[in-house]
Amino acid sequence: MRKIEFFKHNIGRAEITSVAKAIKAPMLTTGERVQEFEEKFAAYLDRPHAVGVTSCTAALHLSLLACGVGAGDEVITTPMSFVATSNAILHTGARPVFVDVEPETANINADLIEGAIGRKTKAILPVHLYGQMCDMKRIREIADRRGLVVVEDAAHALEAGRDGVRPGQLSEAACFSFYPTKSITSGEGGAVATNAPETAAALKKLRLHGMDLTAMDRYGKRYQHWDADCLGWKYNMDNIQAALLVPQLRHVEERWRRREEISRRYEAALLGIPGLDLPKVLPNSKSGRSLFTIWVDPQRRDEILWEIQERAVGVAVNYEPIHLLSYYRRTFDYGEGMFPVAEEIGRRTISLPLYSRLTNDEVDYVIAVVREAVRKVSGSRKGEAGLPS
Ligand SMILES: *Cc1c(COP(=O)(O)O)cnc(C)c1O
Repeated sequence: MRKIEFFKHNIGRAEITSVAKAIKAPMLTTGERVQEFEEKFAAYLDRPHAVGVTSCTAALHLSLLACGVGAGDEVITTPMSFVATSNAILHTGARPVFVDVEPETANINADLIEGAIGRKTKAILPVHLYGQMCDMKRIREIADRRGLVVVEDAAHALEAGRDGVRPGQLSEAACFSFYPTKSITSGEGGAVATNAPETAAALKKLRLHGMDLTAMDRYGKRYQHWDADCLGWKYNMDNIQAALLVPQLRHVEERWRRREEISRRYEAALLGIPGLDLPKVLPNSKSGRSLFTIWVDPQRRDEILWEIQERAVGVAVNYEPIHLLSYYRRTFDYGEGMFPVAEEIGRRTISLPLYSRLTNDEVDYVIAVVREAVRKVSGSRKGEAGLPS
């Protein structure tokens, strides 16, 4: 049987050559290659500064710290994201305060943000889900009026734009992931883009134990004594990760265009199938097209998920809402019914393969498999759909 992976990366000869060169150099940790990556990454985003770290989780954690978020504070965010988003808030000692999402886009519902702001609120952490940006103009306006900072989880949104705004433009910091399923990857890795030179400087200290000199500074010429004037973490990107990322930056737009094409092919074929809905991409928005998600009958989602996998097509669930994960239920007394829109999406969602190496033929095969799975499961009575025993 034909097999279609949920994801395939796009690392080729240029990346392998670049990594080989980095490994042959004396400096493996944070050095010139990281600096080169940071400059090119910032230039792609049209932002003045970027700081390379070991993951988007680290990027979020350090960005919040650099913005002064800490113990006793509250950060407003969405439950419809990967658990990293709110874990990063918890790592600072602050508490995530969830608000529900928009039914059409699954992004944080900006209408609900003001109602969640309290005495302890320090920041808003929007997530640009599936690649479509939140309403950043509106979120910035709320934050300015209420004296809050904004940190973006832009893990899905490297290529995105909305109303002429790109990630990092209207916030204190925008955080990116280079995990394997993201649009560029170093296996693990992440970065922060920021407009403020002080934030970039703070992030560079925080990513390396609060040290005031990098390894490059310490060993580049003669040995230099260093100091640590704050408590930092060990989140610095290394030259090998950076060497893997730099060549991929040249292909970001071309690969995005291919994912856009694939997404449109999915949309054209899947729209109108009874019992199947798609998140809406707004007209003034360029989605990063990081995930392609379908929303099916919540009673039948797992059966459809199973049927699709039976035909060897890789799928995923992005996401079950964070507040319903055991740790969050137990620690914060969250439960069913608190964020009904996110919960409904969490019960309905299935992500299909979306990466630039997919051929049209493979996309058409996935479409046929999804169609057949939805038809078969909807046509059967419950319990007859061949669920695993
Ligand atoms: C992948 C992802 C993260 C975490 O990224 P890491 O680099 O694995 O830490 C955070 N938020 C969202 C929305 C993601 O998709």
